[in-house]
Amino acid sequence: MAKHLARIHGTEEDKVNCPFYFKIGACRHADRCSRLHHRPAFSPTILIKHVYRHPVRLAELKQAATAGEAIVDREKALEEFLCFYEDMFLELSKYGPIEALHVCDNLGDHMIGHVYCKFMEEEDAADALQAMNGRFYDGRKMEVEFSPVTDFREARCRDFDEGSCARGGYCNFLHVKPLPMCLIRSLEDDAQYDRRRVDDERRDKEREEKRARKKEKRKRRDGRDRDRDDRRRSRKSRRSRSGSRSRTRSRSRSRSRSRSGSYSGSD
Ligand SMILES: [Zn+2]
Ligand SMILES: [Zn+2]
Repeated sequence: MAKHLARIHGTEEDKVNCPFYFKIGACRHADRCSRLHHRPAFSPTILIKHVYRHPVRLAELKQAATAGEAIVDREKALEEFLCFYEDMFLELSKYGPIEALHVCDNLGDHMIGHVYCKFMEEEDAADALQAMNGRFYDGRKMEVEFSPVTDFREARCRDFDEGSCARGGYCNFLHVKPLPMCLIRSLEDDAQYDRRRVDDERRDKEREEKRARKKEKRKRRDGRDRDRDDRRRSRKSRRSRSGSRSRTRSRSRSRSRSRSGSYSGSD
């Protein structure tokens, strides 16, 4: 029974868990879905919702505003997309090495503009989520959540990857915007360089702080030594002063005694 449940988990046969949410991390029924959307408490993958401004949606909005035609300037759209991708990649890389960064090309309301980022380490994903959720990007507040997607092969639309998805932008499987491989490689290099630089800077700062702390400690110790020496010296001088005083006192005493003696002698 348990084996059967494990086999059908997140598939069409599973009547409890939503297969779309399980595989793609997004379901068109959202909270109204009759099946469970089990949100993970931790995941190496985060989803930044609707953060990419899809050019088709932008053109539609413009068309609605101007009553003109919805035309997408493909060249401009590609350039903007590459800039966006670079931005996201470098920002997210600050939290750790990225295993995959995918931008959705889907047009459905439940997927449009989604960005998936899978980190090598789960803790890095948690750091990124905490830092980015609620922050603004391009004038919009980012909504970030852990995604159940860890295997993009399950989430991606195979037909789209082969260039033949009949459902187009409204397909419910992930249409990953294609990218030139050379861009990803150069971004990985940049990110690695940046991370190393940040690490070096942090190490330098730590070293400097350590040095400053040591210096401060030495200063305090020297100050203490000086105080101690001062105290010792003042004690010594007090002792020597009191010593000479007692000596003078005893001397005067002996003098008075001798004087009294002479007095008595003279009597
Ligand atoms: Zn669902
Ligand atoms: Zn598709």
